[in-house]
Amino acid sequence: MLGKMMSQPLLIPAVLEHAARFHRETEIVSRREDGGLHRYTYGEAARRSRRLANALVALGLTPGQRVGTLAWNGFRHLELYYAVPGAGFVCHTINPRLFPEQIRFIINDADDQYVFVDPDFVPLLEKIAPGLPGVQGYVIMTERSRMPATTLPGALCYEELIGGMPDQFVWPLLDENTASGMCYTSGTTGNPKGVLYSHRSTVLHAMAGGRSEVFGLSSRDVVMPVVPMFHVNSWGLPYCAPMAGAKLVLPGGRLDGASLAELIREEGVTVSAGVPTVWLSLLDHADKAQDTLAPLSRVLIGGSAAPARMMERFDALGIQPIHAWGMTETSPVVTVATLTPRHDALSPDERMGLRIKQGAALFGAEMRIVGYDGVEQPWDGATSGMLEVRGPWICSGYFSEDDGQAFSPDGWFVTGDICTITPDGFMEIVDRAKDVIKSGGEWISSIALENVAIGHPAVREAAAIGRPDEKWGERPRLVLVLREGARLTAEELREYLAPRIAKWWMPDDFVLAETLPHTATGKLLKMELRRLYRAPDHPDARPL
Ligand code: AMP
Repeated sequence: MLGKMMSQPLLIPAVLEHAARFHRETEIVSRREDGGLHRYTYGEAARRSRRLANALVALGLTPGQRVGTLAWNGFRHLELYYAVPGAGFVCHTINPRLFPEQIRFIINDADDQYVFVDPDFVPLLEKIAPGLPGVQGYVIMTERSRMPATTLPGALCYEELIGGMPDQFVWPLLDENTASGMCYTSGTTGNPKGVLYSHRSTVLHAMAGGRSEVFGLSSRDVVMPVVPMFHVNSWGLPYCAPMAGAKLVLPGGRLDGASLAELIREEGVTVSAGVPTVWLSLLDHADKAQDTLAPLSRVLIGGSAAPARMMERFDALGIQPIHAWGMTETSPVVTVATLTPRHDALSPDERMGLRIKQGAALFGAEMRIVGYDGVEQPWDGATSGMLEVRGPWICSGYFSEDDGQAFSPDGWFVTGDICTITPDGFMEIVDRAKDVIKSGGEWISSIALENVAIGHPAVREAAAIGRPDEKWGERPRLVLVLREGARLTAEELREYLAPRIAKWWMPDDFVLAETLPHTATGKLLKMELRRLYRAPDHPDARPL
């Protein structure tokens, strides 16, 4: 027998309409490119999103088509977050920090029909536009007077595009499983893969994220997502904040400690979220400027492991740091390391030991660890296994290239993180099966780096591994075997690599080796390489 309750679909525009109705005057403050601030309210954001939805329909888009964005956190990006999926299209947020060739691949793979771009990223897009045959047009996210001169074919001005449009739009009553957003993961081997969110997954994830052990939002909060809107929907905050009626502060492209501290102070930010690298620069600024960062009271730290020292520095300022784990494929939040009353009796050291783990699963998501033999491992805090997760905001497949390898035979998503779980459910990442390096919250593909390096005539074999780095989490180190009789200086190798990789992919140092460890099938044994060469001050790390 079915229950007799309404099956009202969970749809994204309802979130903004809720905020516009019940928190109409609550502000959204955005940092502009020129450093100034733009301010408006949820009421205005909803009106302009409806205008944008009319404009998208007028452009001739058909249901399900993808609209790309290359933009910082700002009010126009927020409007796209609502209008694109609300009108039945898919909002594809593109990471501008990727190498241009990867961006070209991603836009073509997603088959983006239009790309909305911040003026900052116009030069980047101009470089790849000739290789984007499917894109029908570009929209520069600015007003007429600030339009840059551009070679982008038929570039439109955002404000002109929406200016003449009505501010009424009837959001279609979509199936809640309709695709709403898209974000590529560039971390795993091979080409980047598209993760396709739905209205339902997005709304459920945002409802979970608002809970007290995660963002814990109310209408008294002022929320500043530092995590970019091109990284897994800014961890859901652009949805969580309007749901709760919290004021939103969008920091644009200025993510240095001083600029963030200014927004915290001037706009009264109480809750924020970002990767450890960002927090390090904020904490260093706070130390130097003797700034208490008031009224900031909670920060979510994720994307890379939060070091104990960082947690202590936040504690000392009276700010609660919350360590969380997630992935692009998981919307992203799955676990948070929030202590509960059963931990009250523990010593400060024991409590810190738990707080720096990745934490317990939120209701709605499930996790397990599995051994190489496919057998589920015990939650004893010592036995490790591959972390697998499932739940309504976890992906069930990839957009185009899907070999199904990321899923277990019974349908769990295989994360690539090797973890332990304590008896009371605190998960900790102890290693990584995926062959990637995470630096400042962004992925460096070690395989791509190795392939470029072995293109050099003096290099016989190369292995890229991440070595721990206080500021960036990890930095790439290249372990090299040279061809017999070959000579190579670090300077020569750097010169060779520079035009072939993104600037921030450049290895910090090189290690020469006689041989590299391999598996029986000839693959590099990355875990062994990490064991041998990971130490930050490895004795063999030197200029070639
Ligand atoms: P992404 O899809 O780019 O968000 O990257 C997800 C991956 O980042 C995870 O599978 C982990 O390897 C890593 N990661 C995310 N959060 C954490 C964390 N709190 N601690 C350690 N690694 C993390």
